[in-house]
This record gives sequence, C-alpha cells and structure tokens, in this order.
Amino acid sequence: MKLRQAGADSATINIKDGQVPQENAMPRFPYHVRPETAVLTRGFDPRLSVGSARPPVYRSSTYVFSSPEAAERAFGIVLGKIRPLDGETPDLIYTRLNHPNAQILEDQLVPLERGAAASAVFNSGMAAIFTVIIGCLERGRSLLYTQPLYGGTQHLIHQVLEPLGFVTKPVGAGETEGITRAIEASDDLGLVLIETPSNPTLVMTDIAAAAEAVRRHPNRPLLAVDNTLLGPTFQHPLVHGADLVLYSATKFLGGFSDLLAGAVLSADSELIQRVRGMRALFGNILQADECWILNSRLSTVRLRMERQSKNAQRIAEQVAAHSRVERIFYPSLFTDREQIRIRDVQTDYPGSLFSLELHGGRLAVFDFLRRLQIGRNAVSLGGVETLVCHPRTTTHSELSEDELAAAGISESLVRISVGTEHWRDLLDDFMHALDME
Ligand SMILES: *Cc1c(COP(=O)(O)O)cnc(C)c1O
Repeated sequence: MKLRQAGADSATINIKDGQVPQENAMPRFPYHVRPETAVLTRGFDPRLSVGSARPPVYRSSTYVFSSPEAAERAFGIVLGKIRPLDGETPDLIYTRLNHPNAQILEDQLVPLERGAAASAVFNSGMAAIFTVIIGCLERGRSLLYTQPLYGGTQHLIHQVLEPLGFVTKPVGAGETEGITRAIEASDDLGLVLIETPSNPTLVMTDIAAAAEAVRRHPNRPLLAVDNTLLGPTFQHPLVHGADLVLYSATKFLGGFSDLLAGAVLSADSELIQRVRGMRALFGNILQADECWILNSRLSTVRLRMERQSKNAQRIAEQVAAHSRVERIFYPSLFTDREQIRIRDVQTDYPGSLFSLELHGGRLAVFDFLRRLQIGRNAVSLGGVETLVCHPRTTTHSELSEDELAAAGISESLVRISVGTEHWRDLLDDFMHALDME
C-alpha cells in the first residue's frame, strides 16, 4: 500500500505487481461546491499527511517507485504512450516533471477559473507565456497578438520568437473588426494571443469575437488570453470561448509582492498535458515552496481583488476631477461606446488598476511620484500595497516610438495599482501629491 498526496483524485492507491486498481479508497470530492469552498477543500486530504491541516512541502527532487512495473507505467503515461485510467494516480517520477505541491496547487486553481478543467503552474508568468507559445505554435504557423502587450511578452516576440523564424503579427487591442479581419486574412495562423485589458491604458479586447473568428478559420488556431489584470475574479475568458488562460501569478494570485509564479488553465485537459510536456523539457515548473506559498493565497484572491477594485473605483472617480489630471484610463470611466460594450459583456468589476495623464508631462509625473507617501514608486501590480510607476521610462521603456504612439503611452502617463489600504488615506495621498506647487 502506498500513501500519496495527489490532485483532485487524491486517493490511497494500492499498486501491486503493476496492477492499477480501479477503485479509490476515498470518495471523490463533490464538484458542485462553489469556488470559494472548492479552493479550501479540494486537492489536499489531511488524512494522507498525518492530519496536517495545511499541506506539507515536498522538497524531494525524486520519488521512490512502488514497483518497477509502476515505474514503467508512470514513464509510459508521462511520455504519452499510455493513457491513464480514469482516476488513476500514476507514481511520481522526478520533480521537473511533476511534484505533489504543484499537483495540489494546480487542482485548487481550477475552480477559480470559470470553465477550466486543468491547469499547469510555472516559475513565472513569462515562463508560462513562453511555454504556451512554443508548445502550441506549430512549425510554419504564425502568431497574431494584440498590441500593446506586457513589455516582457513584447520582448519575447521580438528578441526570441522572430529570430527563431516565427512569423508574428501585431493588431491593435480593442479593434474588434480589425482583429476579426486579421484572423481571417492570416492563412498560416496558429495562435492568437490577447491581453485584455491592456496595460497600462486598459483598452479592452472582445474575447468572444476573436473566439468566433478562430473557430471559423480552417486551421482552427488556438486563442490564448493573458488574464493577469482582471482574472480570475472579474473576467472569465474560457466562458467567452478562449482555449487557454495565462497568468502572471506574481500579481493578484500571489497578492503580496513576494513571489514569482505563472499559471495556464484550459477547459481541455489534453492541451494542458501538452503544455506540461513542454514544461518538463524547459524545467520551468514552479518549485515546491513557491507552490505552497501561492496555494495559501488562493482563498483570499477574491477578497483582496474586490477590496482593491472598490478602492480603485472610489479613488479614480474622484481623482479624475482634479485640475492636474488631463485624462484618466479606468473601466468605469470609459466613454467609447465599443469599449463600454466590451466592458459590460466581459467583465464583472472595473479592477484595481488605473492610469492618469497629468498636465506638465514627465516632470509633473516625477514630482507626483516623489510626493507620494503611501503609494510606492515601483513596477508590478496586484499586491496588497499600492504601487505607482511611470511606464514610459520603466515598464515600457524598450518600446519603439511607433509602438509607444500606438499604445498611447505618453511622457505624462502614470500607472497606479491600488492596494488594500483604506481608500480615504490613499485618496488623501494622491490629492496631496497632485496639489504640487
Ligand atoms: C507581470 C506580467 C507578466 C509577466 O509575469 P512574470 O510573473 O513577471 O513573469 C505577463 N503578463 C502580464 C499582463 C503581466 O502583468
């Protein structure tokens, strides 16, 4: 008999002479509970870990096989030569391929993403994005992506994918008809990558329209959505027809600006299995300690994001009226009809990120950053602490002039990620910093 902590199918499995039992000793967890409950109840059974209420951290790099036959079978399954039986938990092999803390975390991420059946975790958001592109873009097929993209993703495309020979095509975020036409016009299309809302100008792109276009395309390209800014709480790309949802879990999922992680989710478990196969080769699985930390943050994602969004909405709507503010970028303050339409069908709440254009250009923004007392001048977003940055000289400093103009990133733009502090304190801080003389 072998006890092992595993995923949703956590079970005591009795493996003898290579025979895999059909029946698990434990009942499967009922799947009808709501996400807030599921995240605290699935993926981990304390009885398999001496009653420990929290999962232990399994730091082992290798796992002892229950039998040589079980080892052979585990390799067959991981290499895709054998299909696992329903409910089967194959022996673990080696941590670059898989490990219990990743299994627990992957299992608990699933209920947070509406429509997901499986997930894979990575040691950063960039690792998740890179692995999906390399794993899902077939040879000779092109990548279509919305612009602007996260700076790192943009660099990855220009500095790695294009030199490797991949054909990539940008299309303006939010341009629903333009994106549909670009999908239809690309005979060699293999993958579409959408980031919505875009960073830092919060332009929203219609996921459902892109999903319809890829389904009509003869190649049936895959549609991946970087859901870092509003997911998993306020935007559900799989429900709108996306094939893959990507995350920098460093942001809202992690929530405390103290770890790097990434995740990929899909309604298609085989697609996730393919991504895991690539992950095993690249060696970019999230390590056990990080999995454990991130796993402890999942039950508060919704609480934090709702509080942060409420804070941001109150603050944005008041700061917008300040005489120093030339323009504000925030979903509840959209004026464009198409943007309002996408916002209303695709998102539940406006989120905690807003950007301002200040009168006075870069100097005014730098003064504003210097005068802040609570908000911290740092890149990144989604943490419980309020972070503020000047994208033009930091996160987006490597963009060409054309890309900056297309993305609407001017010298006078400042990006704010609102945390969980009291909104009145933050509002006072912003108002004081704007009242510069
Ligand atoms: C931060 C971020 C990434 C990259 O994630 P890392 O965890 O820093 O590697 C990708 N996409 C978006 C939208 C991000 O905000």
